[in-house]
Amino acid sequence: MSHAVLVVGSANADLVVPVDRRPGGGETVLGGDTALSPGGKGANTAVAAGKLGADVALLGAVGDDPYGRLLRDSLANAGVDTQFVRTVERPTGIAYITVTPDGENSILVSPGANSALEPEDITDEALDGVRVLVASLEVPLPTIERAVVRAREKGVRVLLNLSPAAEVSPETLAALDVLLVNEHEAAYLLGSEDADPRKLLDLGPRAAVVTLGAKGAAVLEGDKSTTVESPKVEAVDTTGAGDAFAGALAAALADGADLVEAAERAVKVAAVTVTRRGAQPSYPTAAELE
Ligand code: ATP
Repeated sequence: MSHAVLVVGSANADLVVPVDRRPGGGETVLGGDTALSPGGKGANTAVAAGKLGADVALLGAVGDDPYGRLLRDSLANAGVDTQFVRTVERPTGIAYITVTPDGENSILVSPGANSALEPEDITDEALDGVRVLVASLEVPLPTIERAVVRAREKGVRVLLNLSPAAEVSPETLAALDVLLVNEHEAAYLLGSEDADPRKLLDLGPRAAVVTLGAKGAAVLEGDKSTTVESPKVEAVDTTGAGDAFAGALAAALADGADLVEAAERAVKVAAVTVTRRGAQPSYPTAAELE
């Protein structure tokens, strides 16, 4: 069965521990209670699109363990098709997250099963009939590059959320319809904090979207730059806001919106997510947005 949106990316269990301070080498520190929630950039993006009513599937990998089942359940509850989520003989990916009282996160990711996602997993069957492919990192780069290039060959619209920042090949960048990055990832790609974001288009994508936190997002297409302002909200937890933005952007593009309209929908969705705790649990449904 084909899908309007195919997300290729990671699925992780997020283990979040509040701490007064982080332990140094050789030191033991007691923290607060652990909160467990489904996460990972790919799963988050797919859940965001699914909750908005998009016809979406995730292509990813989990282990045969309780965390893998937690992720499958969360995807299914959001209406995400999991037929391309492979169960592999590695533990499900885990993100160990410590949060200090100032709200700063420090994250260690153990990719586990995500590392087993191979270029061969990007099958024609998974890509057939797809309107928008969304890829993000935290899975092996050759797999993402294969997904992008193969989708492009098949006439699928391709969006790469280059997060976490990584060195992707010029062929991959040139195959993109939309390069989606936050300000830090844009600076990484351009080699400077002060570079003009329009230079992202010189790297090859047909368009670029730079998310700007509370300021919203910039949409760059040809010689046109549009700033899409975010609604003003009281942010309590921005975890997974970038992934929610990616999922909402893809859902809107699959729906036929142009890129600026899609970014306008995405900032509204992301603004809701930052007013609630957690990643996937904070994502709104289409009905809640109205
Ligand atoms: P994260 O790592 O927290 O998931 P990010 O660093 O990838 O996010 P940001 O640019 O910080 O990306 O945020 C993504 C989007 O979330 C923004 O474009 C914006 O729409 C929304 N957002 C983030 N922070 C706020 C905020 N304080 N108020 C309103 N919207 C926000």
